[in-house]
Amino acid sequence: MLIVQKFGGSSVADAERVMNVARIVTEKYRQGHDVVVVVSAQGDTTDDLIDKANEINPHANKREMDMLLAAGEQISISLLAMAIEKLGCPAVSLLGWQAGFQTSSKHGVARIRKVKSERIRNELDQKKIVVVAGFQGLDKNEDMTTLGRGGSDTSAVAIAASMHADLCQIYTDVEGVYTADPRKIPAAKKLDEITYDEMLELATLGAQVLNNRSVEMAKKYGVELEVISSFTNRPGTKVKEVINMEKMLIKSVAKDTDIARIVVVGVPDEPGMAFKLFSRIAKAHINVDIILQSVGRDGTKDISFTVPKKDGEAAVAALRDYCDSVGALELSARTDVAKVSIVGAGMETHEGVAAQMFEALSDANINIRMISTSEIKISVLIDADDAERAVAAVHAKFFE
Ligand code: ADP
Ligand code: ASP
Ligand code: MG
Repeated sequence: MLIVQKFGGSSVADAERVMNVARIVTEKYRQGHDVVVVVSAQGDTTDDLIDKANEINPHANKREMDMLLAAGEQISISLLAMAIEKLGCPAVSLLGWQAGFQTSSKHGVARIRKVKSERIRNELDQKKIVVVAGFQGLDKNEDMTTLGRGGSDTSAVAIAASMHADLCQIYTDVEGVYTADPRKIPAAKKLDEITYDEMLELATLGAQVLNNRSVEMAKKYGVELEVISSFTNRPGTKVKEVINMEKMLIKSVAKDTDIARIVVVGVPDEPGMAFKLFSRIAKAHINVDIILQSVGRDGTKDISFTVPKKDGEAAVAALRDYCDSVGALELSARTDVAKVSIVGAGMETHEGVAAQMFEALSDANINIRMISTSEIKISVLIDADDAERAVAAVHAKFFE
């Protein structure tokens, strides 16, 4: 079998943990499998490198940021290859470009175009364990790129997809995907299985356990994922197309605090207002999430919406002219908000799920500012200060 194993930053944080990973990897290798290992930078290395750059130039050129951040993974791959050799197995470490990762040129958020996996194949054929740097690649100008935070998950799935691996295991510091972040909610339960669609929603709505692009790619190429702990020897969570678990309504609760809410008060209650407003936001390349428009009263209405926190100021700047020209009374951005969501394919066919969620929030005396729903999720926007309590209350309602 060809097995791709990915180890996150906490799994390779220090020498002891690197040796632990080497033991997991060599065990599979000794069973006769071809093993490709993808690793992230050790512990908080990526954050530390970002801090270092900010000390020198907070507006650093994105190309240079990628050059810097790619160094984190280079340390992990070489150390892990050394650890594997210490345990008596042959290994070779490869940077993203050596492993054939070709990406777009969008530094910091590059997209994988292709993995030219000949080199990996070659090394495997020479009976080596291949250790690949996650999170990085090379663009058409042969400049280093990175894939965005948490991007090593996507690197692992891309290798698994392009080499038709039999298994892609994402090793991390928890035992799988839970009904809520197990570090915040001690009563959270591990799921045996979850569908791609549910996992994609969950990842997009703030559960960092898998990067959402990795799930998107896994679904597209049919790569079955297993999220599993590198510290305990227990079965993890399988992410796949169809699952045979008894119908569980809701799978998990997620929280996202990386949000800004933009409020425009006193827009004329006439056709075309939303169109004009959101075309300015689109022109500024800002993604809009939840949108709420009030009922018109006395000839005016209010429009509010959410954007990623980093785009809050840019959204306000993009709307200043518009607000002046239509005579809006107020334009503001607030970042002290959070989005709490429940995800589950079962809710599509069950009434009353939303009411149950709102009841939990009401009992906890938490005010809902915005609501958004789809077939498999319900999200509410609330004050950031209430977020932890909200997750606990909603989790208790559905799972405890
Ligand atoms: P890695 O460094 O291995 O990539 P991450 O920190 O990116 O690990 O992701 C693992 C973390 O995701 C866990 O430590 C946990 O706190 C968090 N997490 C958030 N939501 C969930 C969830 N529903 N199930 C499991 N873990 C979750
Ligand atoms: N080291 C990168 C990060 O911290 C990539 C990853 O961990 O997946 O975001
Ligand atoms: Mg991660």
